Amino acid sequence: MITNINDSFRCLPQSYLFSDVAARLRKYKELHPEADIVRMDIGDVTLPIPQASIQAMHRAVDDMASSETFRGYGPEQGYDFLREAIAENDYHARGLSVKADEIFISDGAKSDLGNLGDLFGDNFIVALPDPGYPVYSDSNVIDGRAGELEDGRWSNFIYLEATPENGFVPEPPFEHADVIYLCFPNNPTGASITLEKLQAWVDYALREGALLIYDSAYEAYITTTGTVHSVYEATGAERCAIEVRSFSKTAGFTGLRCGYTVVPHSLKGRYKDGSEVEVRTLWNRRQCTKFNGASYIVQRGAEALFTPEGRGQVRKNVETYMSNARLLREALTEAGLEVYGGVDAPYLWIKCPDGITSWEMFDRLLDNLQLSSTPGSGFGRMGEGFLRLTAFNTPEKTCIAAERIRSSQKIFNKF
Ligand code: PLP
Repeated sequence: MITNINDSFRCLPQSYLFSDVAARLRKYKELHPEADIVRMDIGDVTLPIPQASIQAMHRAVDDMASSETFRGYGPEQGYDFLREAIAENDYHARGLSVKADEIFISDGAKSDLGNLGDLFGDNFIVALPDPGYPVYSDSNVIDGRAGELEDGRWSNFIYLEATPENGFVPEPPFEHADVIYLCFPNNPTGASITLEKLQAWVDYALREGALLIYDSAYEAYITTTGTVHSVYEATGAERCAIEVRSFSKTAGFTGLRCGYTVVPHSLKGRYKDGSEVEVRTLWNRRQCTKFNGASYIVQRGAEALFTPEGRGQVRKNVETYMSNARLLREALTEAGLEVYGGVDAPYLWIKCPDGITSWEMFDRLLDNLQLSSTPGSGFGRMGEGFLRLTAFNTPEKTCIAAERIRSSQKIFNKF
């Protein structure tokens, strides 16, 4: 028997949101085996990997078959071919001066978001969005920074409330935070951020000596001109911000696993004795200690996304999902619902009518329209009274869902 195990696990919510959703769906299917349920709950992609990437991975597999081209352990930071392609296409092309050696390739954004906690000092004060992607909260709970759970909230966290009133873009708090998680375009609300609002966050972080962790896993979905693509568009962000990105939603890599994190040279920190250190060297040290690099084959697949063919194919996939989002938005609006998101992100955030709860709305959509969704309350207290629908589906299934929503005005009115 192991004694003295990490007590923080006991404090985590016992079940994961998506297992609750799956359990309800299972039960519904047992009772209604004939039901043709359209899944609009999980945020997983449905389209295959772009061909340019598939072909590059086939070639990379062949590289592994011959002793001249075989690759064993790669650089922990990622191969230069991919780091340079990202610097060039995702940053230099937008006039941003992120360097290849500031980019760390990983097996996805979730790992990096959880692992970044290794950089935090003792008693770091964490500020995170509510509603928000659960990894920000849960990883800090596991690391013991959360305090006590009181009425569904952790005593040591600062909750950045995202509401229709602030356009789902919270403002910097009055109190001090050591680390702030921001996510734009946002999961689950679908909101994006303007440069002016982002600048307020960067100014706050610089003033407070805080670290901004900017999750832009959905950057590829931005359609509104003038919307921020990278945190480094804000003045001074290279001195306070780390950006986390992923190929998962951009190019269907949810199963392949590849993402990256930018840690600029200019981002400095202080040890307790006041001495200064480049945060990048710490992240590099952390990765070299605990990570042996993403797969060569997958990195070749990611590199190919930046070729002209790859870029075209990625754009086509993203457009398919965003046309699904448009269709859903129109149908939901016609049905008289208050709908947010779906413009710069593949998520629609729906206000539950007549004060019903997220789970009540979930049940009603399932019972009446055979549509599955994600209850907003699973993303935090401020998500109560909202529902998330995903546009990650086939156009055919999305059309069916939109039709059911459209023809359901009576059902919605009944709410
Ligand atoms: N960040 C956000 C906001 C997400 O919604 C997700 C996945 O759903 C991730 C990060 C994780 O992405 P990855 O598949 O790269 O781990």
